[in-house]
Amino acid sequence: MPVNLLGLNREALTQFLEELGEKPFRARQLMKWIHQFGESDFNQMTDIAKSFREKLASIATVQVPRLLSEQVSQDGTRKWLLELSPGNAIETVFIPEDERGTLCISSQVGCALACTFCSTGRQGFNRNLTIAEIIGQVWWANRALGHEAKGERVISNVVLMGMGEPLLNYDAVVNALDILLDDHGYGLSRRRVTVSTSGVLPALDRLRERAPVALAVSLHAPTDALRDRLVPINQKYPLKELMAACNRYLEVAPRDFVTFEYVMLEGVNDSEAQARQLIECVNGVSCKFNLIPFNPFPDSGYRTSRPESVRRFRDILMQAGFVVTVRKTRGEDIDAACGQLAGQVVDRSQRQAKMAERHA
Ligand code: SAH
Ligand code: SF4
Repeated sequence: MPVNLLGLNREALTQFLEELGEKPFRARQLMKWIHQFGESDFNQMTDIAKSFREKLASIATVQVPRLLSEQVSQDGTRKWLLELSPGNAIETVFIPEDERGTLCISSQVGCALACTFCSTGRQGFNRNLTIAEIIGQVWWANRALGHEAKGERVISNVVLMGMGEPLLNYDAVVNALDILLDDHGYGLSRRRVTVSTSGVLPALDRLRERAPVALAVSLHAPTDALRDRLVPINQKYPLKELMAACNRYLEVAPRDFVTFEYVMLEGVNDSEAQARQLIECVNGVSCKFNLIPFNPFPDSGYRTSRPESVRRFRDILMQAGFVVTVRKTRGEDIDAACGQLAGQVVDRSQRQAKMAERHA
């Protein structure tokens, strides 16, 4: 099997080249071609000696996922469907805003965690993405967008908020982060790369040591009783431990706050009393809130909170001194909104079958 250079961080690439008797500067050169110029054909890498290009071609590849489709929303949001292996595909979304362009990428095919309001969770789990598959999403988006902007960097932010729980695919994710942050890779600053987690605590402590980037935590409930139901991993790592872990993370994080994501579900977690409980819950943690209107999907069993409930909830948090944003839903017409990313999952966890049984 040829080595796929798309998935090697600088250190791994340097070591690979060293074994071939090549100097470390070649790693920088290759990374630039692959990640910045979006080149996958060694023959086109014109400032690399021909003999070396031929040698590379015989033992290595730059293998990117296969592009199945691209959709553009009326609001400029774009979505790519990428095939990883037969039957398994993932979605990647680009959200343009005035000051920035955010790419939302996936870390797993499906998710094993089964949060009850999440369509990815509903689809079950197939497997972790490889480093190359995680980076492959950025590679495609960069190439597709880069052409339009004539070389300007249009992806300013990357968020791991697509399919999957990034901290349950820890090794591949931290290696992919290396490539995103590398000056010869995608050159993003730590502040502009966000890992979103539902709270896999031991791995969060490891991320803190290895590659502290901006942190978002999917909170969704102010009490353990409710969070146990909505985000089942809470049964293992309850709120008190989660808050303590957030504080440990903040000691080294590139931003001095955690973003708590809170999906607004009508009659479930959106009351005024719950807003006040939430203030208690995060006491002592430097944070902002991002309220996300629930995006419905078939048979979800939940409804989106009414706009006035969202407003009241937001006002209570703001009056207590918190910065609160209400996420605008983007790309709805192409099913690219939060929690709508579906891809195609060959469900090995049998969750789809179990759910169907329960509903029958
Ligand atoms: N597994 C990680 C990252 C992916 S989910 C995590 O849970 O944080 C990205 C965000 O979308 C999370 O905050 C998640 O709770 C939210 N989300 C999931 N389903 C949603 C839905 N149907 N509507 C709105 N947001 C949703
Ligand atoms: Fe997995 Fe995140 Fe969805 Fe929960 S919200 S099922 S952790 S992708």
